[in-house]
Amino acid sequence: MKYGGNTSCLELRFGEEDRLVVIDAGTGIRELAGHVMQTDLPKGPIKTELFLTHTHWDHIMGFPFFIPLFIPNTEVKVFGPVSFEDDPLSKIFGDMLRYRYWPVRLEELAANIQYSDLKEGTMDLGGDLWVTTKYLNHPVLVLGYRFEYRGKVFCTAYDTEPFRNLFDVSPDDPSYDAEAVKEGALAAEEENNKVTEFFRGADILIHDTQYTHNEYVNPKSPKLGWGHSSFEHAVNVAHKAGVKKLLLFHHDPDRSDHELDVIESKIRRTVRAKSRVEVMVAREGMTVEA
Ligand SMILES: [Zn+2]
Ligand SMILES: [Zn+2]
Repeated sequence: MKYGGNTSCLELRFGEEDRLVVIDAGTGIRELAGHVMQTDLPKGPIKTELFLTHTHWDHIMGFPFFIPLFIPNTEVKVFGPVSFEDDPLSKIFGDMLRYRYWPVRLEELAANIQYSDLKEGTMDLGGDLWVTTKYLNHPVLVLGYRFEYRGKVFCTAYDTEPFRNLFDVSPDDPSYDAEAVKEGALAAEEENNKVTEFFRGADILIHDTQYTHNEYVNPKSPKLGWGHSSFEHAVNVAHKAGVKKLLLFHHDPDRSDHELDVIESKIRRTVRAKSRVEVMVAREGMTVEA
């Protein structure tokens, strides 16, 4: 109730400009729609650039509830990751607007929707806004975003977990190969370093922290390979990358408000002792300035 129960949706604004960038269309986009209708629509047709980190259900399921889609002259540019083997974004994303799932079909929406399939790279979005993308570690292709605008940097890192050595088996295992173990460790380290560099100097980093470290490595029910990070990992990466503000995000749906309160004060205490990163647990409706 305090931190919110909607799934991922971030709103990015740029000073006094009317520009609206949205990251992910989780259920939170329904409330954003109401806000945009009040504050943006009176000034003219709504233009949105919607960046999807990935197409897992919790990150797209709010899309049909984005009311401006039903208003003529609304423009929505959807950006998101696809791999070579996959259908284009328009198909992946458009498929959920079929009668089987929803009474309104994609063709019936009044808005003009355009799709751009993204890979790793840097793109000039115009108006001094640039975006760089980086593949993260999740069961499906996920992009981390690094937005840069007039010297300010905002990064996203969800859903993701640290890369690890996939060949790290015990020497007693018949598949053990010393050379592969060594190479695997190097490859994981290299990828993790690239991710850290991707966040370098960010004013704000919003990072996946679904688990505590103990939950992540708990031998009875380990969460390794599930594609989500621990609070401890996010704090370490942010410190290494010289991040100014770190927002802990993508909370476990079972996590209570009280647990998050306790985690936040505990993390703040440990961070204050050794780092300058300002750490906050992300809360629905919260505004953070770069
Ligand atoms: Zn996911
Ligand atoms: Zn997710």
